[in-house]
Amino acid sequence: MLNIALDGPAGSGKSTVAKIIAQKLNILYLDTGAMYRACALKCYLSGVDVKDEKAVEEIMKNVDVRVEYKNGAQITLLDGKDVSTDIRKPEVSMLASAVSAHAVVREKMVELQRAVAKSMDCVLDGRDIGSVVLPNAKFKYFITADSKVRAERRYKELIERGTPVDFEKLHEEIIQRDYNDSHRKNSPLVQATDAKLIDTSSLSVDEVVETILNDVEK
Ligand code: C5P
Repeated sequence: MLNIALDGPAGSGKSTVAKIIAQKLNILYLDTGAMYRACALKCYLSGVDVKDEKAVEEIMKNVDVRVEYKNGAQITLLDGKDVSTDIRKPEVSMLASAVSAHAVVREKMVELQRAVAKSMDCVLDGRDIGSVVLPNAKFKYFITADSKVRAERRYKELIERGTPVDFEKLHEEIIQRDYNDSHRKNSPLVQATDAKLIDTSSLSVDEVVETILNDVEK
């Protein structure tokens, strides 16, 4: 199977790039962040504190997270319900960062991700795809950018979607999420030793896509 791993911090542009690459190569795009977001939403809806490991463990026994595809786009299902829009709310981002630190959550989600990657050619984006989920993936990239540039991109995205948001708060949250994701014990955000680094701070989406496609098609 052709598996392309795109890892990096929030707002680095990896999901935009991943979607285009998947379209151009006619393969599947798996947004793994959406799966952690769905777990976070489950805790939120159940009134569970995402930092309470025991309570999260209980919730994870009965959680049903699945992904389906509609007109080529990923639909994320939580207990059978389409939560693709709800999981994009900024407050869910911080909850996802906290909930994804628990081993029990990661084990369950990684199992699902590996099953998809084993059965289909796909491009996956996340934090630990190249380092933990698919250490043998043929193509691995670590996509990053300056935190301010990333916050600006997220800001634009949310405003365009009609979600009012404060820029400074968003920037602080991105820095906090980077810190949480890079310092957790289980599968921290890290550049796999064999992943190629792409700093997108001053690159256009097309330039990043081209860099990766040139590499893959070589
Ligand atoms: O990529 P996205 O911003 O949607 O991810 C939300 C959160 O899910 C991240 O902040 C991170 O904590 C977690 N995540 C993860 N591993 C992945 C993908 C996302 O821990 N493979």
